[in-house]
Amino acid sequence: MRPHQQPLIGITGFETAYPKPPHAPLYATGQRYVRAIEDAGGLPVILSPGLSNDTLLAMFERLDGLLLSGGGDIDPTIYGEEPHPTIWGLDMNRDRAELAMAQWAAQTEKPLLCICRGTQVLNVALGGSLVQDIETMQPKALRHMYDQEVTPREEATHSVTVDTDSLLGELIHSTSAQVNSWHHQAIKRIAADLKVVATAPDGIVEAIEIPGHRFALGVQWHPEWLYDRQPEMARLFNGLIAAAETE
Ligand code: MN
Repeated sequence: MRPHQQPLIGITGFETAYPKPPHAPLYATGQRYVRAIEDAGGLPVILSPGLSNDTLLAMFERLDGLLLSGGGDIDPTIYGEEPHPTIWGLDMNRDRAELAMAQWAAQTEKPLLCICRGTQVLNVALGGSLVQDIETMQPKALRHMYDQEVTPREEATHSVTVDTDSLLGELIHSTSAQVNSWHHQAIKRIAADLKVVATAPDGIVEAIEIPGHRFALGVQWHPEWLYDRQPEMARLFNGLIAAAETE
């Protein structure tokens, strides 16, 4: 990066249609991710999942940092399981693009912040697996999925315990945090190169990182809806931008 330039942060997108299928297909991402990166001082750019691997790699190399965004489920056959009936939102292109970029970021020390699905992508990309549906497969767990029309996205619904000896611990400055929760899946087998750095009271994995990497953090919650009111959540984005400034 040239000095005094704002870092360029890629935000992964998904395919949709406007106003709905079979109308013209679009690439999109959540407005909140874009705003969070801009508010933290970065230049957000949406990455189209339909790009070829060569084009994706060329894009990746231009970026100073990467945000893997939330969304539908990863195809379970990628981590060697038959799909559970609750699986939704499969997108082959998005899986391919995000799994590749997660691996590249892990290998190259490119600063990486993963949110919700993004955290699951990082784990699967590095060889881990997922609980395909928390509610039916771990019935004693807390509720982790809320109806977004009833519960505001800015509302914290459970606590997490944070490992203080971690990047997340340095950013949060506390042994615990209050988080929102919009996931029906979770980390099952953690990839060998990853470390669990936050858990919910029921033991569900809520954050992971690559020890020794400059900045490679994944959170299962949605800080992009919390950072206005919870300064420790703004520090996740600020930390990504600070790491990307030295990329
Ligand atoms: Mn949760």
